[in-house]
Amino acid sequence: MDIRRTRIRDLRKALDTKHISATELCSEYFSRIEAVDGRLQSYITVTKEKAFEMAAEAQKLIDSGKGTELTGIPIAVKDNICTDGVKTTCSSRMLENFVPPYDATVIENLKREGYVLLGKTSMDEFAMGGSNQTSAFAKTANPYDLERVPGGSSGGSAAAVSASLAPCALGSDTGGSIRQPAAFCGVTGIKPTYGRVSRYGLVAFASSLDQIGPIANSAEDCAILLNTLCSHDEHDATSARVTVPDFTEKLGQPINSMKIAMPKEFFADEIDNEVREAVLEAAKSLEAKGAKLVECSMPSLKYAIPAYYLIACAEAASNLSRFDGIKYGYRGEGATLEELIRDSRTKGFGEEVKRRILLGNYALSSGYYDAYYKKALALKQEIIKEYNELYDTADVILTPTAPTVAYKIGAQDNDPVKMYLADICTVTVNIAGLPAINTTCGYDKAGMPIGMSLVGKRFDETTILQLADAFEREFTPVLPKL
Ligand code: GLN
Repeated sequence: MDIRRTRIRDLRKALDTKHISATELCSEYFSRIEAVDGRLQSYITVTKEKAFEMAAEAQKLIDSGKGTELTGIPIAVKDNICTDGVKTTCSSRMLENFVPPYDATVIENLKREGYVLLGKTSMDEFAMGGSNQTSAFAKTANPYDLERVPGGSSGGSAAAVSASLAPCALGSDTGGSIRQPAAFCGVTGIKPTYGRVSRYGLVAFASSLDQIGPIANSAEDCAILLNTLCSHDEHDATSARVTVPDFTEKLGQPINSMKIAMPKEFFADEIDNEVREAVLEAAKSLEAKGAKLVECSMPSLKYAIPAYYLIACAEAASNLSRFDGIKYGYRGEGATLEELIRDSRTKGFGEEVKRRILLGNYALSSGYYDAYYKKALALKQEIIKEYNELYDTADVILTPTAPTVAYKIGAQDNDPVKMYLADICTVTVNIAGLPAINTTCGYDKAGMPIGMSLVGKRFDETTILQLADAFEREFTPVLPKL
């Protein structure tokens, strides 16, 4: 069976009609992983043995007619989501040998359906970065050009789906980490509303911003996955008590009454010309289907990067204080308690993680709290207010996902600020806790994918899925040659 960018619905059909068994399907993906991943480096851990056990169980469910939508479907999982008995490293030396004794809630939900775990995917260390190059282990490449980054921090998941080393994957998004790598690798990825998906078992980066979501071959696949991933969870105090709709319900419905806002700041000079053109072209094609485009403005965008990096680093500094080399994690050496902790953290964390811990603790320290952290919280309120105003007249907001296409590996290595600025199109969505989806809307002259983002109202994932799906129905993706 051809597994290149094959959708869940087609895999489902093949499994249900016994065209292929769950075990055979699993073998197909491992063959591709073995042939391609040496060059791509999208996985940190491949769980082959476990996968075949899970596939055999799934097959029993299918044979007994008890299978559901995801039974026997292979899935890759970002390496910051806890998997019982399977190493979860966060791409950090600190957790190099960490084997969680429990499953994240999203993994429990998938297990109940009989999914098959292919392995754990590479990421920026502790999800801090946008290139996958801050990983202490596999530094993933882009399937469209191995000399370029796949984006990040869920770059392993996006690259694996793009190169058909998995039909779909889980990622996490704190400031764009599902949408931006999905854009760079030419696939679809959705960050759900904050509180929609349980964060229990997701290794925390910035708790007020983090959210788990799927990366897949289409908006429809993302909708199918969300149906299983979303649930209210007592283990996560921020898990929302909202009903979980059928996320596929609006797919295929006409979009002609929809109002799409396009804030002009997202199309300014910092955005690469080819990216801007492709996104504007996509907007026109949605207009041709009957949607109404609304011009508007979001002045607070200029504060987005400082606000995000202050909040994210402050929360990261607090969250990562637990890694002291004693309870768990890498243990260094030292004659005293203080020396032991210092040595463990010095050797366990990479440069970018340490930079953020320093920044965060600085912003939270008593002399600077008001000047930095408190101001960032005020900016957060301003950003939320402006989004609310935009939604008074629009259903959805359309922006580019990133200012450029995937750049060359090494291009931003010695310039963290340059890397931070590249997050301009995605971070406000996390600050406001909104849902947003990336889908591919074109390719630049070099053949690199260009992504657009559709941002929805709180808990209105179904509308952005409907719109992304409407666009995808008439867009033919170009596959990487890998
Ligand atoms: N690139 C952003 C950062 O480095 C976003 C990361 C993320 O969403 N995990 O913080």
